[in-house]
Amino acid sequence: MTDKNKKPMRKDYQAIFTKAYALMDEAIIAGNCGECCGYHCCRRRDDDEKRLGMYLLPLEYEYIQAAVATDYELHSQKHYKMPPKIKKMYYIYCHLESGCLRDHRPIQCRTYPFEPHLENGVFSLVIEKEQIHDCPLITRRSEWRPAFIDGIYNGWLELLKIPIIKYHIEYFSKERSAAGNIMINYP
Ligand code: SF4
Ligand code: SF4
Repeated sequence: MTDKNKKPMRKDYQAIFTKAYALMDEAIIAGNCGECCGYHCCRRRDDDEKRLGMYLLPLEYEYIQAAVATDYELHSQKHYKMPPKIKKMYYIYCHLESGCLRDHRPIQCRTYPFEPHLENGVFSLVIEKEQIHDCPLITRRSEWRPAFIDGIYNGWLELLKIPIIKYHIEYFSKERSAAGNIMINYP
């Protein structure tokens, strides 16, 4: 790609991602939650030795991960299912036995077990019924730090200012509602 074809970076998007990463940097409970489950959501490989990773949000690679992510695939709509207005998604592979370089972990890792939900213009955080990780903390919600909950909520409010992320959230919220896949809705 020539410089002429490169889209200019938007400073406000960069600032939004930087702020969201900072807000969403609070531990879910006091101490290291990975120790109570063997880092189930941060494994490099599953039980069948398949490599595991994480999808980035639209524009997350371009605005904040490009400088740090080295092991990733670019998935296109031609071969993978994704919302119609999104043409490509970055999938980064997890590293290190007990988690990645935590300072740089993507938004989808910071928000778990919450997912952002936007329905009829109302934003909330939800916990889905379908869980691939069986996170032991889902039944221990009284231990969740208020700073974690507030940080995740406010971080998503920042990210919602980016139209393609708002579209992404709305798309998956509709799917989630249609499938009845909501266990808990905050607040
Ligand atoms: S599955 Fe839950 S307890 Fe385990 S590392 Fe992930 S968030 Fe922490
Ligand atoms: S925090 Fe790191 S190791 Fe864990 S799922 Fe996310 S990218 Fe993978």
